[in-house]
Amino acid sequence: VSFGYQDVAPEEKTRRVGEVFANVAASYDRMNDAMSGGLHRIWKDVFVKRVKPRTGETILDMAGGTGDIAFRMEPSGAAITVADINPAMLEVGMQRAAARGIDGLVWTEANAETLQFPDRFFDAYTIAFGIRNVTDIPKALREAHRVLRRGGRFFCLEFSTTLWPGFDTIYDRYSHHLVPKLGKWIADDEESYRYLVESIRRFPDMATFESMIGDAGFVQTRVEPMLGGLVAIHSGWKI
Ligand code: SAM
Repeated sequence: VSFGYQDVAPEEKTRRVGEVFANVAASYDRMNDAMSGGLHRIWKDVFVKRVKPRTGETILDMAGGTGDIAFRMEPSGAAITVADINPAMLEVGMQRAAARGIDGLVWTEANAETLQFPDRFFDAYTIAFGIRNVTDIPKALREAHRVLRRGGRFFCLEFSTTLWPGFDTIYDRYSHHLVPKLGKWIADDEESYRYLVESIRRFPDMATFESMIGDAGFVQTRVEPMLGGLVAIHSGWKI
């Protein structure tokens, strides 16, 4: 298993990812804006548009972190559970929810690989910028499939590989040199951001990840690239 830039044992990856997000929780939201120039807000808006949450639905926002996706889905009236392996990220999320007067969300600690929810419980499963941090991705995808009801839908927003010529080189330079520096200036934490950049580079390309979703049992899988695939929305249905 690779922990971004090193090959490590699976339990070691899980532990280190835990450390990374415990370290970055407090500055996470500010860093997202700084690193993406605010673009992550647009990607998340598009993502939630594709999910189309509706009143009466139950939705699991996995690796929900500080709540960015859940806050965007909440006005729909869907019943949303935000699950994340990291209590520090959830804590920041709960504080943000309180500050916004949002009290209808359920926040719970969970590992995407071993969910505590019963079979066929949710109408939709969302995971944004979370799946690449999971140690056993195929296992997490099978769990997503298990907890969805028949007709339920899976949506993943994640960094991928841009197919735009030239753009990949610029992005590579930016991410390898500037992002860790931004991490140092803003969060006083260069190492964590080095991990985040490397974990993006090591994540499977769009087609490979789409086939992994199919292997977990989903059908009609789709991929919608943004910025040539720098970021992509993968989706699939459980039937
Ligand atoms: N979805 C949020 C967003 O878009 O802003 C948070 C994304 S953040 C980059 C990644 C999140 O994945 C972190 O909160 C981290 O704790 C969580 N995570 C990492 N491994 C996980 C796992 N195995 N199970 C559940 N959550 C996990």
